[in-house]
Amino acid sequence: MLDDALTKMKTTRDGRVWTPLPEKIKEAHTTPLPRKGTALCDVQRQIADFLPYNVGNTHPRFFGWVHGAGSPGNMIADIAAAAMNANLGGRDHGAMYVEKQVIRWIREMFDFPDTASGLVVSGTSIATIIALKSARDSALAFDNRLSGHAQGQLVGYTSTQTHSCVARAFDILGLGSNALRKIPVDHDFQIDLDALKLAIARDQAAGLRPFAIIGTAGSVNVGAIDDLSTLATIAEAEDLWLHIDGAFGAAGILSEDLAPRLEGLKQADSIAFDFHKWFHVNYDAGFVLIRSEDIHRRAFSDRPDYLLGATRGLAAGGHWPVDYGPELSRGFRALKIWEQFTEHGTEKIGQMITKNCRQAAYLGTCVDQHEKLELLAPVATSVCCFRYIAPQWGPSDLDRFNDELVIQLQLSGVVVPSVTKVDGKTAIRINITNHRTCMEDIDILLEEIDANVEVLMSTF
Ligand SMILES: *Cc1c(COP(=O)(O)O)cnc(C)c1O
Repeated sequence: MLDDALTKMKTTRDGRVWTPLPEKIKEAHTTPLPRKGTALCDVQRQIADFLPYNVGNTHPRFFGWVHGAGSPGNMIADIAAAAMNANLGGRDHGAMYVEKQVIRWIREMFDFPDTASGLVVSGTSIATIIALKSARDSALAFDNRLSGHAQGQLVGYTSTQTHSCVARAFDILGLGSNALRKIPVDHDFQIDLDALKLAIARDQAAGLRPFAIIGTAGSVNVGAIDDLSTLATIAEAEDLWLHIDGAFGAAGILSEDLAPRLEGLKQADSIAFDFHKWFHVNYDAGFVLIRSEDIHRRAFSDRPDYLLGATRGLAAGGHWPVDYGPELSRGFRALKIWEQFTEHGTEKIGQMITKNCRQAAYLGTCVDQHEKLELLAPVATSVCCFRYIAPQWGPSDLDRFNDELVIQLQLSGVVVPSVTKVDGKTAIRINITNHRTCMEDIDILLEEIDANVEVLMSTF
């Protein structure tokens, strides 16, 4: 298995980006629950058969959605984590010290005080729920934790470009997704600050209770970064919690190109982000960073008798993760994060991010110069949204053509873009959060678009 995995990593540039799983292997995975076991070497072969059929994000020309490319060195951490089979709900054992060190590193990275707390989680979606629960409970002086009441009046603010996980968090927390006000964006796809102030004033006048602003560092559609410093000023003036969704963009704090635009991050009350995106830690690994350890703990802590800590023995260790999130048993994700920073260092990770931004900017320039391509949003970070245009077509034909073009490109195996809507128009969306991508891959993408347009035109 180790040999197969290493070969997979070594040959990641060769072959197709994405290949649909062959029918034969799909069928092999419809058999009923095994009553008897199988020899491990046969199990290994079955798993090895699977290796070529990942989503494609380890390939340098995977440009879909926002996926990290992963790192081979992480495999040694996963092997060790599997051997230890550690449970990081709490207690005093080696793995806990690694996670605590990761938390300290993240505090340092974002210039948060020593009193801030954090938790390694599976991804930004759950990190967002944890951060907003802390914000909500703090706004209600934690009374709601027992009574479940007094939620109906709370409202929060974010932009129309914010990831759907924020509205989902409002829903899951019982606030209702309508309590999340979607503020329009300006021409740079950043939250419109005047509209935000107006919305807060309107809700206050109506007797509602604004409690949080959710800013975005790297929006999922076009990669925009809100004016975080001004959001912090507004939040401070109105006594609101400032949460930042930095799922992929927060990693830009390590990049010389992006760091100046992320200054406001250090003023946030909480940040949610992923290690599995631009930090290139293998899936899955995310983080929630919360300025006030006290609020964070008071939003989650409720240990039953059988989990009570001790001052000595295995039940010791002051910090138990179970007090900071909804999960008790947790795997040793912190080790692959620790491995990544230890092997590569933050400078190299930052350089990879800068490289990706410059590749996206280069693509934006090429699109601008291309007669038949139209840029649909400014390139702010790693994302470039554009579409193919033909003067003879109306809006719905253009949408249909670009949708089909992306499917053809995905099926080609040469490049994988995805689609989104920008101002109601179907966009070919290229996101470059991949340390393996080089400039040549961008040229190949453009060539492949031209070639597929030609073929598609003849049948459209
Ligand atoms: C990916 C992403 C999320 C969701 O993160 P998961 O790790 O998939 O839960 C949220 N916000 C933004 C901006 C993202 O790019």
